[in-house]
Amino acid sequence: AFVAPLRAEDDRVMPWRAMLVLSDETSIKRADRMRADFLANASHELRTPLASLAGFIETLRGHARDDSEARERFLGIMFDQTERMQRLINDLLSLSRVEMDEHVPPSSETDLAALVEDARDYLRPQLEEKAIRLTVRKPASAPAIGDRDQLMEVLLNLIENAIKYSPEGSAVQIEIAGPLMRDEAERPELVLGAQASRLTLAAPASEPRERYFAVRIRDEGKGIERRNLPRLSERFYRVDGQKSGPKEGTGLGLAIVKHIVNRHRGGFTVESALGEGSVFSVFLPVPAAVREQARESV
Ligand code: ADP
Repeated sequence: AFVAPLRAEDDRVMPWRAMLVLSDETSIKRADRMRADFLANASHELRTPLASLAGFIETLRGHARDDSEARERFLGIMFDQTERMQRLINDLLSLSRVEMDEHVPPSSETDLAALVEDARDYLRPQLEEKAIRLTVRKPASAPAIGDRDQLMEVLLNLIENAIKYSPEGSAVQIEIAGPLMRDEAERPELVLGAQASRLTLAAPASEPRERYFAVRIRDEGKGIERRNLPRLSERFYRVDGQKSGPKEGTGLGLAIVKHIVNRHRGGFTVESALGEGSVFSVFLPVPAAVREQARESV
């Protein structure tokens, strides 16, 4: 803030009149700070596997040169680290793409139910590896909604998390529901017990007459503590104790989901109970053209 003296028409300073100029720099500083934090985090995340690769190359050149068993093991670790870097770079690129087009409404439309089936096919190896039973509940007809590639990314991120943070042999349920009014779309799922906490990670753009289709993904995994829910969609955030090892996630998945949901003017909520499981829900407004038809079919 600064005080500017006012001058009269003949350029005399009028000391009894002044203008107080207040400018708010906190939001600019916050944005700068976030950018700097993001760069520092991204660099750190990439530097860790790179440093480990450099270390293993040194070892392979040195004392592991003639030890074929050690060599195989180290090459395996190096491969995992390279894959991790690829995942990170893919997620970083995805994030920057979705951020760039967040203000451009999606132009294409895709069949939500068919998309869920495609996601299930794509994830079949991971589901089989952990013997996870995936069930899908969907209405007789679901409308065409949103950008195919982006909604696929949303589904893959949420279903992969459900698999990753669940024990072997557990069940994951996907439900497509709609058309719903906004409060129905946002209403807490009663599938989790009274201990469950719930949080909105992205609020839908509100238009009173809008109808939504919700996709809910429910797991029987480890669940998330109430205090950790608000930070879930922050970039690089992982719940305490979640390692950032070669097989672990990048911490960018839910941030990507949130941007895509925002672009679709939809909502994104999480419900979770520690030791019981989680339900992640995304709900998307039904395009006007199919709204009537969708209502008739239910
Ligand atoms: P990551 O790549 O680490 O999975 P995400 O952004 O997808 O990153 O998720 C952020 C964090 O939220 C995860 O590291 C994990 O701690 C927690 N999380 C996400 N989904 C689930 C889930 N279904 N069950 C339990 N914890 C989850």
